[in-house]
Amino acid sequence: MGGAQSQEEEPTPSEAGGDTPGIYEIAELEPRQWPIVYSSQYNIGFMGLQRLHPFDSAKWGKIFDHLQEAGMIKGKEDILEPREITKRELQMVHTEEYLESLTSSMNVAMVVEVPPVAILPNFVVQSKLLRPFRFQTAGTIMAGKLAIERGWAINIGGGFHHCSSNSGGGFCAYADITLAVKYMFNHIDGVKKAMIVDFDAHQGNGHERDFLGDERVFILDMYNRLIYPGDNFAKQAIKRKVELNHHTTDQVYLENIRRHLPAVLDEFDPDVVVYNAGTDILEGDRLGNLDITPEGVMERDRLVFTEVRKKRGKPIFMLTSGGYQRNNARVIADSILGLHREKLISNPLEDSHVTSELREQGASLAQGSGGNEGET
Ligand SMILES: [Zn+2]
Repeated sequence: MGGAQSQEEEPTPSEAGGDTPGIYEIAELEPRQWPIVYSSQYNIGFMGLQRLHPFDSAKWGKIFDHLQEAGMIKGKEDILEPREITKRELQMVHTEEYLESLTSSMNVAMVVEVPPVAILPNFVVQSKLLRPFRFQTAGTIMAGKLAIERGWAINIGGGFHHCSSNSGGGFCAYADITLAVKYMFNHIDGVKKAMIVDFDAHQGNGHERDFLGDERVFILDMYNRLIYPGDNFAKQAIKRKVELNHHTTDQVYLENIRRHLPAVLDEFDPDVVVYNAGTDILEGDRLGNLDITPEGVMERDRLVFTEVRKKRGKPIFMLTSGGYQRNNARVIADSILGLHREKLISNPLEDSHVTSELREQGASLAQGSGGNEGET
């Protein structure tokens, strides 16, 4: 294709390596910032994709908007924005062959399960669909680092748990969970054992295939056993498997968490927990086919943060993963607000009772003598 000079953006992942600051280098929080990662680039502005796929393509932006409306965060300056992950960074996990396969719109159509994508020019598929996923993938890696520094982090996106190093599927094009865990093993001295708690409605066969036989990773996976992907090979990597039936209700679901989560945390004693918090467990989700209420989702997240963070002091980072009904963004935001209300997550500046004026000068304040000047 001609006129490459005039293209606004690199359609495929950037080859850049040398001058681009590393993902961990840009994951630097100021004291006033929350360890929440999000970019408006996450959202898929796609000619009516939502009509082709049971899909709220603006879910991520709505979650951010809800948190802002509730006053928990004031704006983008209060959180961290990722950049797009580069090809070189993706290659830490992904095979050249797999990344090359995404330059065919036909292959991408199969990965995202939207057949009409096959007939779109690949540069459109790259910029409108894969590029948002590359931002979200970088966001998951950043959240891992922030969790170690702050004790918790949330990526308002990511959780592409059906993608492995050499295969995509189920709307997942990049293996963000595998990448985040490997980044931590490679770059953070204190992280030698990681636990993946996967509570999306579907089996997380991507990270399972990637970590099969890896003793540093413990996978707890609870999913509807009667839906996609039913990947028996990948199931060998699950160290604690909880298989649910269609229309499982809150009571059975939450009881399973109470029975299994504390036990595996004590057994494995991880250095960090990746929490894949898909909301396709919600009643009415035609893909997940479970009957969990919005209150059930909030209680699930509260249980996970209580067991991991409050009771055991382990770092945790949460990914929003699957669930694309119209009400998912609201439920996810309500759950995050609930975690905040219960002080399972907080911002360091809140703890020092600063006034809003001082809060704006957060960076300099936190380096000073502490929060005595201001009171509320
Ligand atoms: Zn799912």
